[in-house]
Amino acid sequence: QATINTSRKDPYPDWKAGDPVPYAALCTTFSLIELTTKRLQITAYCSQFLQQVLRLTPNDLLPTVQLMLNKLAADYAGIELGIGESLIMKAIGESSGRSLAVIKEDHRKIGDLGLVAAKSKSKQGQMFKPKPLTVRGVHEGLLAIAKMEGHGSQDQKVKAINKLMASADVSAASKTVDIDKDKGGPSEAKFIVRFLEGKLRLGLAEKTVIIALAQAVTTHEAAKRNKAVSTDQLAKGEAALKTVYSELPSYEVIIPAMLEHGILNLHDSCKLQPGVPLKPMLAKPTKSITEVLDRFEGKEFTCEYKYDGERAQIHYVAPEEQSEYPAARDNLQKDPKAFRGLAAVFSRNSEDLSKKYPDILEKLNTWIKPETKSFVLDCEAVAWDPKAKKVLPFQQLMTRKRKDVKTSDITVKVCVFAFDFLFYNGEALVKKSLRERRELLHEAFTPVEGEFAFAQYGDTKDIEEIQSLLDESVTASCEGLMVKMLDTEDSGYEPSKRSRNWLKVKKDYLSGVGDTIDLVVLGAYYGKGKRTNWYGAFLLAAYNPKTQNFETVCNIGTGFSEVVLEELHDQLSDIVIEKPKPFYSHSTVAAHQPDVWFESKYVWEVKTADLTLSPRYRAAIDEMGQGISLRFPRFIQRRDDKKPEDSTTTSSIVEMYKNQEVVNKEGGGKGVDD
Ligand code: ATP
Repeated sequence: QATINTSRKDPYPDWKAGDPVPYAALCTTFSLIELTTKRLQITAYCSQFLQQVLRLTPNDLLPTVQLMLNKLAADYAGIELGIGESLIMKAIGESSGRSLAVIKEDHRKIGDLGLVAAKSKSKQGQMFKPKPLTVRGVHEGLLAIAKMEGHGSQDQKVKAINKLMASADVSAASKTVDIDKDKGGPSEAKFIVRFLEGKLRLGLAEKTVIIALAQAVTTHEAAKRNKAVSTDQLAKGEAALKTVYSELPSYEVIIPAMLEHGILNLHDSCKLQPGVPLKPMLAKPTKSITEVLDRFEGKEFTCEYKYDGERAQIHYVAPEEQSEYPAARDNLQKDPKAFRGLAAVFSRNSEDLSKKYPDILEKLNTWIKPETKSFVLDCEAVAWDPKAKKVLPFQQLMTRKRKDVKTSDITVKVCVFAFDFLFYNGEALVKKSLRERRELLHEAFTPVEGEFAFAQYGDTKDIEEIQSLLDESVTASCEGLMVKMLDTEDSGYEPSKRSRNWLKVKKDYLSGVGDTIDLVVLGAYYGKGKRTNWYGAFLLAAYNPKTQNFETVCNIGTGFSEVVLEELHDQLSDIVIEKPKPFYSHSTVAAHQPDVWFESKYVWEVKTADLTLSPRYRAAIDEMGQGISLRFPRFIQRRDDKKPEDSTTTSSIVEMYKNQEVVNKEGGGKGVDD
């Protein structure tokens, strides 16, 4: 175990008020966090550090929070790191004067590039002492690396990483936690490398950082008034920040506002607005219409078609309103020829999809009513067959390029199906009931065939009528129904939540576990027989947001056509890695190892007969004692619209397992697989 050197009262003697925050100080906090799994303790470490930042260098609060979150900017800015292993190894070698072969050997033995970097740094003699790293400097350095693209950018990246590495671990402050051989202690090199890989591996979920930030700011505000902070104030601060963040997920806007106006006044200056995409509300799966009726008993609800396309959040501001919305000016597209004003289409991950859907933006003017001056619309972009005048399957849509689509090259047309309305003419609608939001939605736009439509729905509680709606939706090439609370206060829009107030009923899965499952591909086995040229089976994992690990859940070899296997082989052979990443939780039994491992990059949608416990897999092992695994998994399709962190969570898998357990118990129970 690492030991924390507490003998020094002031671990950062050089950090004076107004100085930039030393990166070493942040890394020390990371190291403390790394030594515990207790959420309260982690929150306390973060909060204490942020209080220090607030006291000494409040101007650096934003980059500090961003480095804690392993994020350089908001998701809509489209800045991503995820630097490949080989580039990082090259940079570690060059910056420490060790050969690439030695670095590779270390990586093979240690398996964690962060630790390889720490070790390389500790072996390096220092001719002269470079200036210590600062949080702002590291943030700027990493941002510059993320933005490098095009010809020669690989070499530029290596150079830029070298530059950061050269200044890493020179500060005396970084030695306040004694280096621990297993974890690498507070080594700055280690955390820079982990940041570059996109995983700090601290179990530091965004939720925890938000709570810590709220605590720090509330405590700091009380201290400025020479008062001790009360539990009540802490709770109020936390609630205020959480609400504001759910409607305006932008630290770039929130943090300066919080510093200027105070945490409890945030809601006055930080409101849901066009230009800052919200995380969408999601639905819970169900297995039958009777389950829906049970869950919504006594409540008013509506059944909408569940369109099978890509979620699209459309933001718009009319030209005459632009001055009202600074975020819209920064983040929305402007194309005076194609559409009036500012607009953008965002994905379910808040990525800007405007370059994928220029055709949607070009047609905005046909369906926005003149009196509609600003809005945020929740919809599904669905592939559309203009001749047959009907929707096409999701796979058709996925054939579209993700970027730089030219309208003239578009072969797959899309129609927008709007199902929710979050902001309209200067007012946030999320607190209104769905019935009210829907009325406003129908007032604000005019449907245009093949371009824009309102989601079909029926408001009924009658089981037979619901069944016919489900059948009709399937005939109309939809996935099933979305059943939503309509009138009560429960029917508000809950950003970023998989809510009980939205239930999905899918056509195929009324038996089984009720839903398909989205999993990350971590490894593969070479094929046999006809499949020898490609991978024949794959190792898949679910995501555990608490530990930020990917936990294995099944092997899959069914559902792939030969064409698909060939495609997958091409795609996956580019991301083969030598060893499983330290954040993969998998069986260590030799016979269970896949032939190759991959970077955690691609998400696949998979169907399963049922779920079972298995000693071979690791999904939800913390909670269940054994891993949960999928029985008879079958590949459905690639989900390139999802990031690995959007794959099905291990807690959802537990929920599905338990739901099914009740059913199984009634039906006589099921044994342990494998
Ligand atoms: P899925 O694999 O089902 O798309 P998901 O995790 O992306 O899963 P879910 O909560 O399961 O999201 O299903 C909701 C998705 O269905 C939405 O994200 C949206 O893209 C799509 N959708 C289609 N029609 C509707 C509708 N009428 N209301 C809400 N969402 C709809």
